[in-house]
Amino acid sequence: MAGKEGLRQRVGTAVKKDIASVKELVAQTGTTWGRARDVSISNIAICGAIMTLCPLFVIYTWMACDSFQCSLAAPMQKVLAGGLSLDAIVAGVQTLVDDHFPRPSAGAFRLFFGWLLFQGLLYSYLPGKIGYGQTTPAGYTLPYIVNGLFAWIVTHALFIGASLGLGLFPASIIYDNWGGLLVAANVYGYFLTFFSYLKAHVAPSHSEDRKFSGSMIYDLYMGIEFNPRFGEYFDFKLFHNGRPGIVAWTLINFSFAAAQWQQIGYVTNSMVLLNFLHFVYVIDFFIHEDWYLRTIDIAHDHFGFYLSWGDSVWLPFMYTLQSHFLVRHPIDMSWPWFTFVLALGLSGYYIFRAVNNQKDVVRRTNGHCKIWGRDAKVIRTEFITSDGQKHKSLLLCSGFWGLSRHFNYVGDLLISSAMCFTCGFQYLLPHFYIIYMTILLLQRIQRDQERCKGKYGKYWDEYCKAVPYKLIPGIY
Ligand code: NDP
Repeated sequence: MAGKEGLRQRVGTAVKKDIASVKELVAQTGTTWGRARDVSISNIAICGAIMTLCPLFVIYTWMACDSFQCSLAAPMQKVLAGGLSLDAIVAGVQTLVDDHFPRPSAGAFRLFFGWLLFQGLLYSYLPGKIGYGQTTPAGYTLPYIVNGLFAWIVTHALFIGASLGLGLFPASIIYDNWGGLLVAANVYGYFLTFFSYLKAHVAPSHSEDRKFSGSMIYDLYMGIEFNPRFGEYFDFKLFHNGRPGIVAWTLINFSFAAAQWQQIGYVTNSMVLLNFLHFVYVIDFFIHEDWYLRTIDIAHDHFGFYLSWGDSVWLPFMYTLQSHFLVRHPIDMSWPWFTFVLALGLSGYYIFRAVNNQKDVVRRTNGHCKIWGRDAKVIRTEFITSDGQKHKSLLLCSGFWGLSRHFNYVGDLLISSAMCFTCGFQYLLPHFYIIYMTILLLQRIQRDQERCKGKYGKYWDEYCKAVPYKLIPGIY
């Protein structure tokens, strides 16, 4: 355990060093950049609606696949089949709930919470290097244990070895328990939301980085604590964002491919391609986990329902809808179409990775690097944390970052389209992912604009002038 103790000490030391500097600071003034504090009634209403309706929507898509061959309209048609009077609709909803809602099961609960515990142990005990996040509005630069790739490999080796190798359980076990797992994941997602809310009040990890909006609903949804932790190094945000859900993503696909094989005796090329594209995306995430520490998820979002329920339910259940669809509708793609979709996915991935790398390289070298063969063009910026201290940073404005301010999102949208195209065009449900990603990324552009304007002020204006397009050069 000497290694673990050494790791603990390294992490602990790094945190304490930053805490020491922050302790000297004045209390938070409320004028710092970061998450919004003053929120409108309409924002609060939207947050309340999302917390109530999103879980129902996930259940609806599960029902559509499980009982209605992935037709999004069919459950609604069943509700309305008895007529449009209020009584008929209530009776229709009741029948839908009675006949088609997912049921809790002891086996699925054991599976879900066993999975969570297992990932928690891997996160805590596997060795990994220490990565650092962005400086927070209160001036912390927190260390993280970066061992996700190791966790992904161990998990997949054990799952494949135990299911296909030793035959201890069927590889389709996740597919077989999908409804029960959905219930368990929702229970955990809501529990984590309320737990994090209470923790933020009674035992915050870094109290200066908390944000209170004055609305319980908004605080529950967007979170209060920025980087809640157990002890000094079990980080809620990195763990939930980057472990149980994302490690599961490829495992879920694999299990769904196994279910398809059980049902039709082979795995279709569409399922293979989908598995491959998701694999590339997920493995890239883990190979570049250190980079992920400096993305908006970690550097801006506080930890509330948005991340706790989102990581527990939305990600594993909605991001894998295509593989659920392909079990219900095995599709053999023509080889020209297969090749086109593969090329689309890989070119999207290339853009996604290349853009993100440019930002990473320019930040690591403090702007002293070549971008597309020329010296990087950067705007040197200053920003202030709530302790009143000045920091320096830079904004790249050449290469991909000179084409538009979020060209990395273009890559993401291309890969997401390719993932959906594996499912053909007869049904809407498997295309949910690209629709959702488009909305998410457009909204992110807006949120990032506000965040960067608040953080960099006139420097951000200068950058926007130098790079006027937000997403697609010449168009938007
Ligand atoms: P970015 O990685 O683009 O991060 C934006 C931040 O980068 C800004 O807040 C700012 O932060 C910094 N920045 C902005 N402009 C510049 C510049 N010109 N030069 C240097 N730094 C700059 O965005 P995201 O975190 O949203 O996305 C990361 C990746 O993850 C993307 O490729 C995206 O497509 C993907 N993604 C995937 C999702 C999924 O669910 N599959 C969801 C969301 C994103 P600061 O200056 O404070 O460092």
